Amino acid sequence: MNAIVFDNSYARLPEKFYTRQRPDPVKAPSGIRVNRPLAQQLGIEPRWLASPEGVAVVAGNQVPAGADPIATVYAGHQFGSYNPQLGDGRAILLGEVLDQQGRRFDLQLKGAGRTPYSRGGDGRSPLGPVLREYLVSEAMHALGVPTTRALAAVTTGERVVREELLPGAVLARVARSHVRIGTFQFFAARGDVDALQVLVEHVLARHYPDRVGADNPALALLQGVIERQARTVAQWQLLGFIHGVMNTDNMLLSGETIDYGPCAFMDDFHPDRVFSSIDQGGRYAYRNQPGIAHWNLACLAQTLIPLLHEDGAQALALAQEAVDTFPAQFQQAHNRGMARKLGLGELTGQDTALVEDLFQIMAEQRCDFTLTFRRLADLSHSGAAANDIRAVHELPDALLPWLARWRVRLAADPADTASRQADMYAASPVFIPRNHLVAQAIDAAQDRCDYAPFNELVDVLARPWSYDPKLARYARPPAPGEVVRQTFCGT
Ligand code: AMP
Ligand code: MG
Repeated sequence: MNAIVFDNSYARLPEKFYTRQRPDPVKAPSGIRVNRPLAQQLGIEPRWLASPEGVAVVAGNQVPAGADPIATVYAGHQFGSYNPQLGDGRAILLGEVLDQQGRRFDLQLKGAGRTPYSRGGDGRSPLGPVLREYLVSEAMHALGVPTTRALAAVTTGERVVREELLPGAVLARVARSHVRIGTFQFFAARGDVDALQVLVEHVLARHYPDRVGADNPALALLQGVIERQARTVAQWQLLGFIHGVMNTDNMLLSGETIDYGPCAFMDDFHPDRVFSSIDQGGRYAYRNQPGIAHWNLACLAQTLIPLLHEDGAQALALAQEAVDTFPAQFQQAHNRGMARKLGLGELTGQDTALVEDLFQIMAEQRCDFTLTFRRLADLSHSGAAANDIRAVHELPDALLPWLARWRVRLAADPADTASRQADMYAASPVFIPRNHLVAQAIDAAQDRCDYAPFNELVDVLARPWSYDPKLARYARPPAPGEVVRQTFCGT
């Protein structure tokens, strides 16, 4: 019996979509962690995955039967400038697996060696970015955000050369697919309409099965992607998540969040917050994320023009009309989420000032994004002291007049206070992958081969909503000396 049962649909597409490429074996692979629930979901025995045989597969030393390893090709706008040739330069798609519900997932090895798309790169990944992606992508999943996931991580026993010599690692990443806006751009730029047609069909069947058979498949796809991305980016905003590198090659047609390079969750709120060391102009600042998503979706729409209508002007009009729906769809998703965070059934026009004033005070007072909303949930009902985070975080006095307005507004909302509070707790986590905790976990692993802080943090982040005072140190904002202001791609 095969330990992993593959069914590789992307590798059955024409060869112009990828290059067959086996992972490059590493010297001395050693397991870091296996994601048991995810392995089980995918029909992979966790004990096998953690065994030397499983570790050899994740490290790329053993290509399992049924795998058909490929590196996929794509292009993309990076910080606004078009790069016609990108591709999996340090990742290899081993193949696809079906989960217990028949849903298809890519199984990709990140850091598995050079490919034809590596250009100058070494195709490897240091340990730090692997642990970071494991922590943050799994936290995002627990927070209910559509995201790629981490199945397992291993060290390679080799060093990678960056500014210094760093331990190498490989991440087994799982995604509904890795088809990016940049994948469409690659073929659109070459005028390869046949390839675009194949991609539209592939992505529709895979991610939007209810839209298969639509009169206008390209339009149905575009509308589906816009809808999903509007919801995903709204969730980012509602959690204070800053992606950091929203290039079109980092935006998936499935609507899942991908690329956890320079991402960060904000501690203290500011709409202009940027963490990525390479984002000099703040293009991907917190407040710009919805606008950038809109821009990226316009790039996707552009690639579909030859398929939208035989008449160019009408095709353009259809594309424009679809793209124009993004801001309202985003706002609607954001309003729904913000209503939940504030304990309201829905936001009305009169609540706009209430929301805007809250964010303004939060920015002025440097309020912690996560704990401010969590504290509002505490304050919404007096019954549940066990969950109270008062000892960890108290709101500043400058918020008192706002709190009084909010309480008046709550009184006008018909919800029962206990169920409202439960809803608010479910909308505002107490544990997020704070930058200083992620940094501490990486440092311990890198400098002392101590994986305990990493493992503990993964475990805490799997239950982001329920507060336990014993875990207070994971909830706390960073002390002044711990604050992380910058993140690095570190690939
Ligand atoms: P990313 O940072 O994942 O958005 O990567 C942008 C592009 O650079 C992609 O085409 C990657 O495959 C490539 N790339 C990034 N890091 C490496 C590396 N260490 N080796 C080879 N290619 C890389
Ligand atoms: Mg990327």
